[in-house]
Amino acid sequence: MTEQIPVRDVTPPAKVAASNDLYAAREKIYTRAFSGLFRNLRRVGGAALFILFFGTVWLNWDGRQAVWWDLPERKFHIFGATFWPQDFMLLSWLLIICAFGLFFITVFAGRVWCGYTCPQSVFTWVFMWAEKITEGDRNQRMKLDKAPMSANKLLRKFAKHAIWIAVGILVAITFVGYFTPIRQLVPDLVTLQVNGWTAFWIGFFTLATYGSAGFLREQVCIYMCPYARFQSVMFDKDTLIVSYDPRRGEKRGPRKKEADYKAMGLGDCIDCTMCVQVCPTGIDIRDGLQIECIGCAACIDACDAIMDKMNYPRGLISYTTEHNLSGQQTHLLRPRLIGYAVALSVMIGLFAYAVYDRPLVKLDVLKDRVLYRENEQGRIENVYTLKVMNKAQHAQSFVITTSGLDGLAYEGRSEVRAQAGELVTIPVELSMAPEKLPSSTNEIVFHIKSMDDESISDEADSRFIGPSIR
Ligand code: SF4
Ligand code: SF4
Repeated sequence: MTEQIPVRDVTPPAKVAASNDLYAAREKIYTRAFSGLFRNLRRVGGAALFILFFGTVWLNWDGRQAVWWDLPERKFHIFGATFWPQDFMLLSWLLIICAFGLFFITVFAGRVWCGYTCPQSVFTWVFMWAEKITEGDRNQRMKLDKAPMSANKLLRKFAKHAIWIAVGILVAITFVGYFTPIRQLVPDLVTLQVNGWTAFWIGFFTLATYGSAGFLREQVCIYMCPYARFQSVMFDKDTLIVSYDPRRGEKRGPRKKEADYKAMGLGDCIDCTMCVQVCPTGIDIRDGLQIECIGCAACIDACDAIMDKMNYPRGLISYTTEHNLSGQQTHLLRPRLIGYAVALSVMIGLFAYAVYDRPLVKLDVLKDRVLYRENEQGRIENVYTLKVMNKAQHAQSFVITTSGLDGLAYEGRSEVRAQAGELVTIPVELSMAPEKLPSSTNEIVFHIKSMDDESISDEADSRFIGPSIR
């Protein structure tokens, strides 16, 4: 009997099976309006930030805008102090201090920055408020979006977008006003005399605000913000997080208010989903700590209101720690937190000292490209350009001297007066008898000292070049 060889059909299928799509389309989040302690706290914090952002730009100090980043002149004015490009090391320090401040707050209180003070969150709440007053609360908005286009729908959508754009324009003008004096910018805008770049940046920031707070919203926090990515590694078991207490809440389920739910085997969670409906990132905090949670505490307010209605104790969702949730003690003072606090204090101290001790005059010396020349008297001559920067808020007179080479003759202005914030350029010639030159290259130092206050001084190294000495 002949053995049959098994035959396998290898004909390709007529249709290639659809591949799994790894891209999930965004589901629009319809947040429900709510009230409560944390919403009020956020409103107070938001109002303070708004006053700071929209108000500071209008303050004047000594006849100019108090906070003004003057890019063409490369100067940064902040109240009585002016910072020059040479001081930007201080700015780097300030940014490092801010970063450490954020690390400290994150280790201590999780994402409170995101929930309460981040401009993305604050403006998203403002845009959500505009949505509510024009399109109604959550259910009305969902209904409106499903309904066919009508005059009512068109009007409501138009009103919402008009408010969004108006807020965007306000933010953009204020932001640009920190770079172009706002008291000049606003009249220029009204009379359409604003220059092309300024108009471009106002348009850009309007669109950025409109797009990120109106449309992208939680996607900025989840996918675009780098802080959201690395903060999870900063959390420890004692970091304050918004969390649901499953030991108290489970088993969740609906029940009548007066029901003996313990006898029914239920926990305190009535599964009303209010905590999900108010969440601006659309997550269910009952699933545990998630990277999408911005720590805004909206779910705490919503759940506390439900607990009140049910006559259950508040705090089913609360600010707590992982240690607390597992029945262990929370350690507020821990090595990492203390380390950040010490580093932060030292850096703030050093920064304050550096700002206080900042020299109020800066001298820069540029040597001419011609190495040296011989003048009519047979002396060796070197030419320099001195740049004297008066960083004080008042005019000063300075005297300039040199050291490092005996017998050096100084020709040019040795006294100079500079107005507040003025940069004065002076050409200077130094000459020396060739036989007295100790070397072909000689280290010299230019000194500048204020004639009004001797503690204000600076110096700059340079060289005096002569012919080769055999
Ligand atoms: S709001 Fe509170 S009771 Fe309602 S589902 Fe969320 S956790 Fe449960
Ligand atoms: S889970 Fe709660 S705290 Fe986290 S983002 Fe949502 S509402 Fe805010």
